[in-house]
Amino acid sequence: MMGQAEAILNTYFGYESFRSGQQQTIEHIMQENNTLAVMPTGGGKSLCYQIPGMALDGTAIIISPLISLMKDQVDALQALGIPATYINSTLTPGEQQARLAAIEAGEYQFVYAAPERFESSAFISVMKRIPISLAAFDEAHCISQWGHDFRPSYRSIVTSLKQIPNIPAVIALTATATEEVIADIQTLLQIQDDHVVKTGFERKNLSFHVVKGKHKQTYVRSFMKEHQDESGIIYTATRKQADALQEQLVKWGIPAAKYHAGLSEEDRKAAQSAFIHDEKTVMIATNAFGMGIDKSNVRFIIHYAMPMTMEAYYQEAGRAGRDGEHSDCILLFSPQDVQLQKFLIEQSLMDDDAKQGEYRKLQAMINYCHTHSCLTSYILDYFGDTSNYEPCGRCSNCQHRRERVDITEEAQMILSCVKRMGERFGITMTAKVLKGSNDSRLRSFRLHTLSTYGILSAYTEKDLTERIHFLVAEQLLGTADGKYPTLQLNQNSVDVLKGKRTVWMYTTPIPAAEETDYREDLFAALRDHRKKIADEEGVPPYVLFSDATLKEFSRYFPE
Ligand code: ADP
Ligand code: MG
Ligand code: ZN
Repeated sequence: MMGQAEAILNTYFGYESFRSGQQQTIEHIMQENNTLAVMPTGGGKSLCYQIPGMALDGTAIIISPLISLMKDQVDALQALGIPATYINSTLTPGEQQARLAAIEAGEYQFVYAAPERFESSAFISVMKRIPISLAAFDEAHCISQWGHDFRPSYRSIVTSLKQIPNIPAVIALTATATEEVIADIQTLLQIQDDHVVKTGFERKNLSFHVVKGKHKQTYVRSFMKEHQDESGIIYTATRKQADALQEQLVKWGIPAAKYHAGLSEEDRKAAQSAFIHDEKTVMIATNAFGMGIDKSNVRFIIHYAMPMTMEAYYQEAGRAGRDGEHSDCILLFSPQDVQLQKFLIEQSLMDDDAKQGEYRKLQAMINYCHTHSCLTSYILDYFGDTSNYEPCGRCSNCQHRRERVDITEEAQMILSCVKRMGERFGITMTAKVLKGSNDSRLRSFRLHTLSTYGILSAYTEKDLTERIHFLVAEQLLGTADGKYPTLQLNQNSVDVLKGKRTVWMYTTPIPAAEETDYREDLFAALRDHRKKIADEEGVPPYVLFSDATLKEFSRYFPE
């Protein structure tokens, strides 16, 4: 049986061997077991239903939440000579009827269906009448309330499927590996533990980077200079940010497209197609872009702002390097990103319990931005993949690791300050107390009378904030969940306070060269601008400023 699957892999898809998890998943399906495949984005989930769909008799139904991608997937199968089609609301009623008739006549091995099809009795009754090989739920986390992309219409398909008794096996596919989501999918689709295939989550060709304290636009500009002609996606937090950044990139002469929910369907399609076909190398987008996008040569994913959860981050970042070549995933962090995400949680319609859950996930995301440990290990740990304990050597933390400093004493001072403040305050206030700030809020809470007031006054508030974030990220200090997480001591804090544990921090000096780059960029921009004006106005070149003057100017540029 597996010989057949392997033959299909070789001859139709042209691949030499299975990737991790594929063979096992295919075996379960061929033996008519409901199966759940949990693999990272780019791990090769499609083949897990495409190969059994070809090996088994009958038509495979693929349920996908994304209408915009169905055509691409169908085109790809057709290009391999495999009879496939899709049926969704983009077709006219006449076309839908014609397609249903062809499906009933058994003309297709694969039918991609949008969730709303399952509300159509015509569709259901055709499904009941034809031989079916399998039903696949792509992006299956959408059926779980715990998933980051819950769609009620997706969940209700489960009930509709029960009306179609002639489905030998259901396969669910997702890149979301949290336990709640897995358990939810298993219950809904009756999948036994033995039939859950979960692969390692490490993508060895991806390097993760967290960049803090840099002017984001300038960073992108110098990054793009070094990565000309490479394909990449820049995710922004808001539509407005996407608009502004795309405009900026185009001004810099970079072929950039944009994609967000505020654009017309037509514009989105055009942008997506220009990106997929490498006419535009860079895509500036909100998280509306990308679920299921299969573009193999994406060399970088830049997050212009921190996403809300690690699930969302890894899924988006995972769109890089599907071809297995080395690719970079860069997160540009600023403290305002946290405020924005908190605002979004507050504004959402979730109940308080659900909000607490979101705050907890957000905290894990914040910790990712502040940890000094290996970023790859942090991700794998988050997704419960314990197969690898070694630092990856590729991420920004592994690469910038210069020297270890013992900060146990400072940590003890910080922790005892938290204790003296009654574990009732957050990071900002704690940093202010340690600094000995004159902020009037300290007086109103009488925090200026504490023995730890000003105990670390030699540091800046920014440094202190960074150190507290670090302690939280390393779980040496806890936080309560919620909008304004208060700092709480945990068992690790107690160990540090008692001197049972040493606290090491890695220094990550910012390479000096990047500072000059930044200035030079500004000078260059200013010079270009002046020259353009001089040309336009026909003024002689001596009106242009000298470099010395430009240097003087630099003082007026905000960082
Ligand atoms: P996912 O749905 O898990 O994000 P895809 O199914 O879109 O991933 O596959 C990602 C890429 O990997 C595709 O370009 C696919 O053709 C390729 N791929 C899948 N399986 C294999 C394999 N066994 N060998 C080589 N490439 C593969
Ligand atoms: Mg997929
Ligand atoms: Zn690492």
